[in-house]
Amino acid sequence: MNDIHKVLIIGGGPAGYTAALYAARAELAPLVLEGSTPGGQLMITTDVENYPGFPEGVLGPEIMEKFRAQAERFGAQLLTEDATAVDFSSTPLQVLTNGKVHLSHTVIIATGASAKWLGVPGEERLTGRGVSACATCDGFFFKDKELLVVGGGDSAMEESLFLTKFASSVTIAHRRDEFRASAIMARRALANPKIGVAWNTVVEEIHGEEQVTGVTLVDTLSGEVRQQSLNGVFVAIGHRPNTELFTEWVALDERGYITLANAGGTATSVPGVFAAGDVADPIYRQAVTAAGTGCQAALDADHYLQNTVGL
Ligand code: NAP
Repeated sequence: MNDIHKVLIIGGGPAGYTAALYAARAELAPLVLEGSTPGGQLMITTDVENYPGFPEGVLGPEIMEKFRAQAERFGAQLLTEDATAVDFSSTPLQVLTNGKVHLSHTVIIATGASAKWLGVPGEERLTGRGVSACATCDGFFFKDKELLVVGGGDSAMEESLFLTKFASSVTIAHRRDEFRASAIMARRALANPKIGVAWNTVVEEIHGEEQVTGVTLVDTLSGEVRQQSLNGVFVAIGHRPNTELFTEWVALDERGYITLANAGGTATSVPGVFAAGDVADPIYRQAVTAAGTGCQAALDADHYLQNTVGL
């Protein structure tokens, strides 16, 4: 018979590791399925300038290593494995990894969110050959190249600014005539001499055989279609929550985010299952808010174990 864990955490980003830290310090001996590529979205970020406590900024992978080490220090058991399925139809709750069933009285879902794609012709075929959703991963390969960044949020600004370190020029294509990005990020991007903006513009197709050679752009106001030669396209149009494993089991909203039972809490529609971080947050999506809700989820799981399970 498998042991029944008190707390099982799915996800190895700021929310998952913070939940693990709090659960471990509450002596709940949490098991963390941190995934085959742990660390979450900060692993593909360079400088994190807005995480409190780091006045000089910190590298994304560096802060994630600190999160992980802090959880481990207090006894969280970390498994570098992906959850492959769950069964929340009875108690104890079941979470599967390759070839193993893990049983737990409570589960904290902290699987985060992933980059969205445009879905235009050429995008999938040329991914890794000039199309990317991660400037910090791939920007290095575009020295003295002409690049397009798609999107108008903070990610698009951040990626564009980062890409100016390598590229000869960066055009931001945004579908409206004003950015969604925060004022400070937008100002920095607009002030950069290497960055230009194509307002009211969408990408209709990405061209190239072995490598990206250009795009077809459409003006959303006039309908005018134009070709632009360039070497790379960075897609920065937001993220979708990683909830595929849970669609059958917990209530989700129309965009696929986990619906929380009470505003400001972490309980989901299933007793004993809690959610933290971007997987349940379509609004704030910050590392610090993910960490905050990770803490809440661990405290909520502890209360549930005491009051409902009687542990
Ligand atoms: P976002 O804020 O949701 O912005 C997505 C952008 O992409 C929007 O401008 C949107 O246009 C555009 N877009 C969406 N779907 C599109 C499509 N199919 N075709 C063309 N354009 C499309 O996402 P984000 O920029 O990834 O930011 C997410 C969150 O992370 C935000 O809260 C942001 O503040 C935060 N963040 C912070 C930092 C930082 O502070 N350093 C860095 C990155 C992200 P519309 O505006 O027309 O909707």
